[in-house]
This record gives sequence, C-alpha cells and structure tokens, in this order.
Amino acid sequence: MSASHRVGVLALQGDTREHLAALEEAGAQALTVRRRAELESIDGLVIPGGESTTMSHLLREFELLGPLRARLAEGMPAYGSCAGMILLATEILDAGVPGREAVPLAGIDMTVRRNAFGRQVDSFEGDIDFTGLDSSVHAVFIRAPWVERVAEHVEVLARAAGHPVAVRQGKVLATAFHPEMTGDRRVHKLFVDML
Ligand code: GLN
Repeated sequence: MSASHRVGVLALQGDTREHLAALEEAGAQALTVRRRAELESIDGLVIPGGESTTMSHLLREFELLGPLRARLAEGMPAYGSCAGMILLATEILDAGVPGREAVPLAGIDMTVRRNAFGRQVDSFEGDIDFTGLDSSVHAVFIRAPWVERVAEHVEVLARAAGHPVAVRQGKVLATAFHPEMTGDRRVHKLFVDML
C-alpha cells in the first residue's frame, strides 16, 4: 500500500511545502530531506521546482551531491518538477554561468534546456495531454525547461511547443511544469504508484 512509502522532498530550496502536501494527499508519508541520513532513509525522492543552479550549489554545501547521485544510480525512484527535471538530466544546456552551473544528477538519460520557454515568455499555463491519465492536465510552466533529447528507453508522457515536457525512465519521472501548484494530484499519485 502506498501509505507505507516514505517519500522525501529535497528541502534545500524551492517549493518544498507544496510537494509535501501533494504527496500526503497522494497517499505517501512525506518528509523533508536535508541530510545524508534522511536521504538514506527514504523509498523515493521529489526534487522540487526552484532554481537549479542554487540547488546544485546547496547540494554541494550540504554534501549531498555524491550520495544523491549514488542513490539514483542504485535505482532510487525520483520525481523532479521544473528545476528538479533539470537536475535529473544527464546533460543540461544553458546550465548557467561557469562555476555556478546546474549539475546533472543523471536520473534520466536526456538533454534538457534550462529556461527554454523563458526566452519567449516567462510563464504560461495550458491544458496538455498526459499519457496514462484519463483527461488533460492543467500545466503551469514557470521559467521552465524543455527536453531536447531523450534516449530510446525514455518514455515521453507529454509535450508542449513540440518538446517533451513530461518523461519517465524506469522509476524516475520528470515534468517541466508544476503539478504541485494545482489541486490535481494525479501526477504525484502516478509517482507514488511507481514506488
Ligand atoms: N529556471 C529555473 C531553473 O533553472 C527553474 C524554474 C522552476 O523551477 N520553476 O532552475
């Protein structure tokens, strides 16, 4: 039963609180992750939206970068929204200024472009089709990335502006948009059901 799953939310920066609430509503036991011991104790991790360059810096400061990469490499389920999607990639385009770049954690074999939509328009919302969900999802994009390349074994679950904006590789899920900001818990439920 999903209620027994302990799902962490990386709580260094970003919209942690919204994900904690969404996960609880989706039937998981949600807890914040700031320390290595917390990272080791969870069944799955959500990496929230926020600023991927800042989160990368803080992952190093909190000595979580290596342990988090290791847990992902071992197959820990994870879900990243927006900045979280960026961090879950294997390659990041427009990663930021040298020395302060967003660092890839390699949870999904894909190339993402940071702030991809933001070059035309900072934020927008729209209803998009999402494979596996019974009806469209209201997607909120805020300085969002898009996906420019996925490996063959990566499933594309949703697209916007011709680019993948929701993808899954095994037990790792990523969306360029923010389902935690709407009342719709289907994406979090999808993740909890993957655990
Ligand atoms: N543009 C942000 C980044 O590069 C992501 C924005 C968001 O998470 N809403 O990390």
